[in-house]
Amino acid sequence: MENKSIWSKYLEKNEKILDKNISVDVLIIGGGISGVLTAYNLNNSGLKIALVERNEIGSGITSKMTAKVTLLQDILTKIDEKDLDLYLKSQIDGLKILKSIIEDNNLDCCFKKNTSYLYTIKKSNIKKLDKIKKVLEDNKISFQEENPPLSSIPVVSSIKIDNSYEINPILYLKQVKNMCNNVQFYDHTNIVEVLKEDKKFIVKAENGNTITSKIVVFATNYPYFLKPLFFPIKVKLEKSYIGYGKPNFSTGKDFNCINIDKDVHSIRFYDNKMIYLTGSKINASKVNDAKNFLKLTDNNLIKEFDCMWSNIDLFPSDYLPIMGRIFDNMYILTGYSAWGILSSHIGSCLLVSLILKKKKYLKYQELFNPRKKITMKKFVNSSFNVYENINGFLKGIFAKNKLVFYSKDKAIYVSNDGYCYIVKRKCPHLKCNLLFNEVEKTWDCPCHGSRFDLFGNVIAGPSKYNIKVDVK
Ligand SMILES: Cc1cc2nc3c(=O)[nH]c(=O)nc-3n(C[C@H](O)[C@H](O)[C@H](O)COP(=O)(O)OP(=O)(O)OC[C@H]3O[C@@H](n4cnc5c(N)ncnc54)[C@H](O)[C@@H]3O)c2cc1C
Repeated sequence: MENKSIWSKYLEKNEKILDKNISVDVLIIGGGISGVLTAYNLNNSGLKIALVERNEIGSGITSKMTAKVTLLQDILTKIDEKDLDLYLKSQIDGLKILKSIIEDNNLDCCFKKNTSYLYTIKKSNIKKLDKIKKVLEDNKISFQEENPPLSSIPVVSSIKIDNSYEINPILYLKQVKNMCNNVQFYDHTNIVEVLKEDKKFIVKAENGNTITSKIVVFATNYPYFLKPLFFPIKVKLEKSYIGYGKPNFSTGKDFNCINIDKDVHSIRFYDNKMIYLTGSKINASKVNDAKNFLKLTDNNLIKEFDCMWSNIDLFPSDYLPIMGRIFDNMYILTGYSAWGILSSHIGSCLLVSLILKKKKYLKYQELFNPRKKITMKKFVNSSFNVYENINGFLKGIFAKNKLVFYSKDKAIYVSNDGYCYIVKRKCPHLKCNLLFNEVEKTWDCPCHGSRFDLFGNVIAGPSKYNIKVDVK
């Protein structure tokens, strides 16, 4: 069994590293779905554009999602009632944009129409589904009250819509990127500093090269260059566990579904096998990777696993994406609460309208405004994140794992075949102790979500640096 996502085999190794100083009009930092779509929407603007990515294009959170494209999102039950209608409208617009990119350009990315279900197993949650039915009705989205074909899950109420889709996110991203013929793409280029000088940004890569740009778009998922503005009051991280393999049952029809209860289960099919996600809402401090991966076997839905992996996304306190202008000439796209496909489509168009001073999609500007104040209630809820971070920090200090040995500043993992992998013990971000994720063989920060591969290369989260140790 492999410990990586099914989409990772589609990633492309370009290795076009930034090897000189350059000057552009717009610099996009981050080559996930947010960054690539922003590049696509700016491609014909006449501006000089560059996109920098620290690993391969698409290799971040985007390569580890389940990739359902549906309006029936579990977060609809979390979003304030006053914002729900506009949020749904933004997703409807996002879907129109995505479909037109695929259809107009004949993209081959396993984009497939399917039936979606949003369900609950708790009677106390039926009212929440009723609220969603109302907003669907208001927006003339036709739905049925029908349960998903899952005999092993005791569904008590459910909504079904037929106008949903699924996609292979990396095949899609690659083709969108290839259409951006006016954009300079640099991968394996890690940005470590963003400075403002007069009316320009001086952006420094780890290899010493510099990009001078009039406009910067942060599409790094975790907005760590903007620490004082965001973390930890406005956002939290949630980790989920995903398995892919032959299902244990046959439904006779294809579908996808997700529930709105405390333990999240999400299902879709790809290539006649099931992608099964569980464990959303696992706060960083509750991470016990081995135990959580084991949960994928609880419902006996998958007979044989081909692969398993985990993924973390950013959840704002109001569950609304953070998309728009931060200050003059500084923009951001993040905070999708594990529903990034449609939001990144609408968000990148909104950003481009703001940059090019156009009117289209500006009706969403306030809803997703990165500078919007958070309410007292949200502030109190978010304080819990700080508690979670402290918990995670302590967990790191008292970490025990019989394959891992710790010195004061280093951690050593000894693999079954006797190889030793030595890394720095603390995360460069805020010096939290790292935990070893035995299943995926990664070093993970239990507080803020940074992740490093076995060799110490940073692969996710807020750390700008890797944790490699020079062994002489
Ligand atoms: C378990 C799970 C399941 C999901 N399933 C779905 C789903 O079914 N449908 C859906 O719509 N959404 C889903 N999502 C959400 C979706 O995957 C994300 O919201 C989306 O992929 C985020 O895209 P992004 O471009 O913002 O981030 P990323 O894909 O992480 O891209 C950010 C990029 O920035 C790069 N970067 C970071 N720092 C630097 C730096 N200093 N220098 C250069 N580059 C840098 C990173 O390497 C990364 O490639 C899911 C999320 C999770 C966690």
